[in-house]
Amino acid sequence: MPAKFRLSDLNPAQRAAAEQIRGPVLILAGAGTGKTRTVTARVAHMIAEGVPAAQILAVTFTNKAANEMRERVGGMLRKDDAKKVTVCTFHSLCVRILRVSIDRLGYKKNFTIYTGSDQTGLVRKIITRKAGKDENLDHNLALSLISRSKNKGIPVSDRADSLIAEVEQAYNAELKLLNAVDFDDLLILAVKVLAEHPDVRREWQQRFRYIMVDEFQDTNALQMKLVTALAGEEQNVCVVGDDDQSIYGWRGAEISNILEFERFFDDPKVIKLEQNYRSTTPILHTANSIIRHNIGRREKRLWSENPGSDRVRVVAMPDDRIEAQLVVDEILEANATEKRPYDDFAVLFRTNGQSRLFESKLREFKIPYRVIGGQSFFDRREIKDLLGYLSVLANPDDDVNLLRVINTPARGIGATTVGLATERSRALGRSVLWVLEDEGFQKMLPPKARGAVLDFLAFLERFREPMLAPSAPFGTLFAKMVDEMDFIEAMRRTCKTDAERDSRHRNVSEFMESLRDSEGRRKGLQGFLDGVALQQDRDDDDIEKQQGVSLITLHAAKGLEFPFVYLVGVEEGVLPHKRALEEGSRDEERRLFYVGITRAMQRLTMTFCSSRIRYGEPVPCQRSSFLDELDPTYLDLHSYDELAAEPVEEDHALSYFAQMKAMLSEG
Ligand code: ATP
Ligand code: MG
Repeated sequence: MPAKFRLSDLNPAQRAAAEQIRGPVLILAGAGTGKTRTVTARVAHMIAEGVPAAQILAVTFTNKAANEMRERVGGMLRKDDAKKVTVCTFHSLCVRILRVSIDRLGYKKNFTIYTGSDQTGLVRKIITRKAGKDENLDHNLALSLISRSKNKGIPVSDRADSLIAEVEQAYNAELKLLNAVDFDDLLILAVKVLAEHPDVRREWQQRFRYIMVDEFQDTNALQMKLVTALAGEEQNVCVVGDDDQSIYGWRGAEISNILEFERFFDDPKVIKLEQNYRSTTPILHTANSIIRHNIGRREKRLWSENPGSDRVRVVAMPDDRIEAQLVVDEILEANATEKRPYDDFAVLFRTNGQSRLFESKLREFKIPYRVIGGQSFFDRREIKDLLGYLSVLANPDDDVNLLRVINTPARGIGATTVGLATERSRALGRSVLWVLEDEGFQKMLPPKARGAVLDFLAFLERFREPMLAPSAPFGTLFAKMVDEMDFIEAMRRTCKTDAERDSRHRNVSEFMESLRDSEGRRKGLQGFLDGVALQQDRDDDDIEKQQGVSLITLHAAKGLEFPFVYLVGVEEGVLPHKRALEEGSRDEERRLFYVGITRAMQRLTMTFCSSRIRYGEPVPCQRSSFLDELDPTYLDLHSYDELAAEPVEEDHALSYFAQMKAMLSEG
């Protein structure tokens, strides 16, 4: 055992949880009380007690959290032991199960995982087909309704002839035809295969005899089913979570999974942790004061030994540009005068779009930063195209990707040919590729189009087998493919500006590089594609290694901690979010706010703006009503000009500020 792991690094309650290896264990505890640390230590302790590392499964929600846990486990164990422990997200666990067992459900094992734009593309196509071009059923709305109903196991509409019901049926049927699954399917099908096939279930139960789940408050009914199925009779399950941090209600998470854990597992050992090791008293006190406003929660009394030296700041900003400017100025200054590394800082916000201004300010001052949970590299058009080729090679039934790449770059297979092929594919219930290969179909085409189709087929065929062979040099081979079709030149021609040309070209090079780096791995090209769909391929590791200020949404910040936190845009309609208010989930927004506050270790600053620039016009904003709910004992209120120490005009912000000060001194 390496000296790094000591049970004595845990407090008595944490240690009790780590030492209870068998049977169900529930750790229900507040933020920063060491839940994740306990789970990690528990893994190390189990191995020290002789549990085979390969039988241990630790599941969590985000790739970032999984990476972090893997790292922490790695730090406590011998390298070969650490490698054998399975630390992953729910979705990647399901992919593992399905790659082995999905054939039991009538799919082929080379299924494709459709995410974001693949799904919208498919739904948009179905809506147009069913209802014509001017139908106003929004495809995003349709997708979210379908997703919700899939998870609940009941159709969107009980009126079978309604458009949405037709779209839903067609969407699900088409996915199956394409030998493709979406993210919801991953869970649904994994649960199904375990439920319907006892031998499969036994196999996985024996594989993972010890299960741990972090952030359990965010599990939904399906994830609970997955855990119970895997746990089997032995019930060696340890779950940890905090009902106050449940922020995925909109995705069907059930707080009852954790609050009523006893309903699912017999006589669990229940452990409470109350000492917070992360934050100072001012931060913790402020956090406690907001979450108190939620009803129906399990009361917790979090305390910290660390008095801290800073009070919590609330700063009124005139507008969003100045907000970004001030935050970046302060980071720059703390880095210069206090020698604080940029990694120590995080800017947290409610919606993805809020990161843009901060990014450009940080770039302007040449401060390194990383965006966590932002738009993915793999969603860029040129990258989707390249992935499209790889996907078609791996799964010939994948029509969506085939149609994406069939004439990109242009190779003389026009819309008429494509239209004919898709129509026929629908009529025959065969994949588009099958139709293209069919001689009968080929004879219907004019000679030029036929030639183009034959060339394309031959091109794919030449690369398919060599690239899919076990431990194939698929990166090197694909570079040849890309070369042969003159992809880069063609792509450059579609760009409007030099900057776009450079950036897309750079993306392609980066992609080819990462593909070559994955060559010769055990899971081959399929493994690479899975990694991309789950966004956890090695590119993520690179991001991990990147240093700098973290820009991160509140949802993605779960489980993380940073010495200095800026919680920005704390305005009514942003946090709480307008849509959440309409849907009556104000409590969940409050929990999100609580998650944000409890990420801070030493210094917390919250900001709100009096106006935001939208399309060049200032739009007035109001500070969040959540700010009024905070206990003012440890709060300092500032106006922007006070901090910037330079006079600015008396404006809107100041009147809000004055209002708030008056309100707080009354309280
Ligand atoms: P969250 O609810 O945000 O997920 P958590 O309960 O999982 O938080 P951890 O991230 O495990 O909390 O721990 C918070 C911080 O406190 C970490 O920096 C951790 O190393 C530290 N910590 C936890 N337990 C102890 C302990 N017994 N002694 C010293 N430090 C501890
Ligand atoms: Mg945690």
